[in-house]
Amino acid sequence: MIEREHVSLSGLTTLRVGGRARYVLECASEEDVREAVAFARSHDLPWLVLGQGSNMLASDEGYAGAIIRIQSSGFSVEERGDHASVTAKAGTSWDGLVADMAALGLWGIENLAGIPGTVGAAPVQNIGAYGMEVKDTIQSVCVLDAKDGSIRVLSAAACGFGYRDSCFKRDSSLIILSVTFALTRDGTPRITYKDLALASGRGEDLSSPEAIGMAVRRIRAKKFPDLSLHGTAGSFFKNPVITREHFDELKLSHPDMPGYEADGVKVPLAFVLDRILGLRGHARGNVSLFENQPLVLVTRTGATAKEVDAFADDIAARVADKTSIRIEREVRSLV
Ligand code: NAP
Repeated sequence: MIEREHVSLSGLTTLRVGGRARYVLECASEEDVREAVAFARSHDLPWLVLGQGSNMLASDEGYAGAIIRIQSSGFSVEERGDHASVTAKAGTSWDGLVADMAALGLWGIENLAGIPGTVGAAPVQNIGAYGMEVKDTIQSVCVLDAKDGSIRVLSAAACGFGYRDSCFKRDSSLIILSVTFALTRDGTPRITYKDLALASGRGEDLSSPEAIGMAVRRIRAKKFPDLSLHGTAGSFFKNPVITREHFDELKLSHPDMPGYEADGVKVPLAFVLDRILGLRGHARGNVSLFENQPLVLVTRTGATAKEVDAFADDIAARVADKTSIRIEREVRSLV
């Protein structure tokens, strides 16, 4: 375990805001993670696990505890017939894994190409895109339970997966060490979501996991900001699910508003922000809604967490005021 002190959180999170963490503990193995938890306990400090920091709003006041950064990486593949059981360490780059699986001709996570972050972060919010959720291929998640130091292998059913949700959001003592995926050589393209269907209509090759991954990366590059150019955490808000009655009522004044069946109706927040509220590109100080995809917040140099917080609250208030939709943040706050 490598111990660092007074580390700027703006350098550890992709939104690029926040003060300093008292300690950052870099962990490359299970032993390191055990050592990090013991360190935090012996110093009587709170601790928090961070991967690439791509879904985190850090506080300007910093963090008076220990940030545990999981940096173990690599994967192993066990094949039986058409099925492959792939175990990847928590610190492995998510998009790197997607590319490696596609190169091996394995289907199951190709639509999730281009999502920033690590393998260990993927189950936490059950990342999803273009009609695929990571829970669909997760076989099990191996965790260190910091409550008693035990290693536990949780089946997918035990992970409490929901829309951008899992038990890991509620139980911070479960530290993800690795994730096992059930992939297959015998897959078929899942390309019914609009952007992929359009790509198919344009004649793009979508016949293999590799081709789909490349197509998804091209689509995302047009819509989502480049992390090397902007401070951002991707979608800042979740797409809201509202009641059918509420949807029908909004449809009266906005007939072209899309809605998808999801235990209610899932509404693209980008439509609400852009077409109902006219907020595409809206900016205040150093924070703005990304021109190409308004549910993504971007920060410029000099932005503070307080600014981001106030900006996001203002957006949520405007949405509630105009549509009575209560939106929730997808990004987690580090306080
Ligand atoms: P989009 O494709 O314009 O979709 C906007 C919203 O409409 C999403 O909630 C999406 O549901 C829903 N939707 C679109 N087509 C649908 C269909 N055929 N059936 C059911 N629901 C449908 O969204 P975008 O902003 O450009 O993002 C592209 C994809 O990346 C989306 O799937 C989005 O959810 C995903 N994404 C995920 C994360 C994350 O996991 N943290 C962050 C950013 C974007 P779904 O959300 O169920 O896909």
